[in-house]
Amino acid sequence: MPDGRARPRTPRKRRKPILSIRARLIVLALLGIAPLMFERVEALRQASVGRMERARADAVELAQRGVAAQKDLIYSARALLQVVGRVYARMPPQQGDCNQDLKALVRDIPWIRGLSIAGADGRIRCATESQTVGLNVSDRAHFRKALNSREFALSDYFVDQDWQLPTLIAAFPAVAADGTVRGVVLASIDLQWLGGLGISAAHRPGSSVLLIDGEGTVVAASANEQAFVGKRPSTSALTQNMLAHEAGTVTTHDIDGVPRIFGYARVPGTRARLAVGLDENMVQSGIDRDIGVAYLQLALIGIFVLLITWFGGEKLIVRPIRSLVRTVARFGRGDLHVRASREHWVAEFEPLAIAFDDMAQKLATREEELRIANEHLEELASLDGLTGLANRRGFDRELERAWRCAADRKEVVALMMVDIDHFKLYNDRYGHVAGDTCLRAVGETLSLVTLEEAVLVARYGGEEFVLLLPGLDLARATELAEEARKSIEDLLITNAEAPCGHVTISVGVESLAPIEGQPASDLVETADGALYAAKRRGRNTVVASTPTRLRMAS
Ligand code: GH3
Ligand code: MG
Ligand code: MG
Repeated sequence: MPDGRARPRTPRKRRKPILSIRARLIVLALLGIAPLMFERVEALRQASVGRMERARADAVELAQRGVAAQKDLIYSARALLQVVGRVYARMPPQQGDCNQDLKALVRDIPWIRGLSIAGADGRIRCATESQTVGLNVSDRAHFRKALNSREFALSDYFVDQDWQLPTLIAAFPAVAADGTVRGVVLASIDLQWLGGLGISAAHRPGSSVLLIDGEGTVVAASANEQAFVGKRPSTSALTQNMLAHEAGTVTTHDIDGVPRIFGYARVPGTRARLAVGLDENMVQSGIDRDIGVAYLQLALIGIFVLLITWFGGEKLIVRPIRSLVRTVARFGRGDLHVRASREHWVAEFEPLAIAFDDMAQKLATREEELRIANEHLEELASLDGLTGLANRRGFDRELERAWRCAADRKEVVALMMVDIDHFKLYNDRYGHVAGDTCLRAVGETLSLVTLEEAVLVARYGGEEFVLLLPGLDLARATELAEEARKSIEDLLITNAEAPCGHVTISVGVESLAPIEGQPASDLVETADGALYAAKRRGRNTVVASTPTRLRMAS
């Protein structure tokens, strides 16, 4: 239960801040840029995925471009075979050397490897390669298809045994005016386009081009995979995937074992598939390199932001604080004229500098007031309240100064020690107030008489006065003391207790030139000795302190 008494407060230990201002600014900057960094990293990740997608799209586009070239070739072949078929259908049988005619016809068509015309029975009637004349092709699917359908027909792709090249045979029926089919024109097409496609893909190192027939046999391949032409890599996931679809992409190991990103499409009119593969490792390493550069840029931006924060914090916050601390410290060391607003401050520090100056101005004013008050107090503390003369304290200080000055200048300094005679009796007779009035009168008269010579007239204590006379030798000081004694006597202040009936003074005089290490008290002591001598001589007299006289007096 609380007993109602306030518990003494235990002073809390001041904890040092864990982080400096700059460190905190850096933490803030990091917090500020972190979302941007995360966003950028995410964007890079997306870009990486996008680049892979683009690589797949590129592969498909290359494959489709190859297929389109093939299509053009087939259309051209169709047109050519159609013309030859018509001419053949109208020609009377066995007329002229048809072999020569065909050779002349295809001489300027580089993509036709061979042209021949088979009769309706399937026997070759004439051909650009004369050794094939008489050959029976009636069992070939493309021949039968063209004969029966009376339409353009294509063979499947195959590897020509003589040329060891991928070949495609186009067939077109030669129909006579009466509607009978007189034969079939056959052309074996040179698949030059594959080479062209290979070149267009070749600017990408590690890429490959493959043409497979409807059974999955490699009919044509780019240079790096020539060894597989004519073979059927039935276990290849690539060929299986290609034969299962008309067109598409697949990322898998190529028949040579290299992982590639493939785009493929079916060649129209055939079951063949054309595939273009881009080296997956190379695509990936390109992406990795770009991402690495992007991360490096990100790191540089981060470092740049941190540096800006560090030096910005230094310039805008830490340096002004240090400067303010220096100004306050100078002020603390007593330089009251130092002011903060003389420097150029950033806006946030301006009010602080103004507030400091305001405080400094007030403190300086107070300090000045205090100094004046102290001086005043000092003065008061050095004055005698009754006579308005310097007191013992004031005298001691002035004596030291005059003594040092005389020592420096190697001059004399004189001292008069004055004591009112029979003052106790005066006091007893006329009272203390009258005694005070008498003291004031004696002090004033002493000041007036020695106005030019004395630097100080002080009340030494009780009814004793002391006069400091720099530069006065003993003779001159004694003369002046005599003048003073006379002046007091001439005041004619009645003292019935004194033998002469008036207030008088006794004076002891000394004048010394300070010698090395001699204390000022020597001057006071010898003057006091002279005063003592004056008292013993019967008072109302002046005694100069000379060793001889003093000895005589004692
Ligand atoms: P002597 O001639 O030997 O100097 O005798 P004296 O009586 O003057 O000396 P003494 O030292 O015996 O007496 C000094 C007197 O001065 C005692 C005291 O009453 C008086 N006195 C000291 N200070 C004051 C003061 O401030 N006012 C008044 N009215 N009297 C003072
Ligand atoms: Mg006395
Ligand atoms: Mg006296």
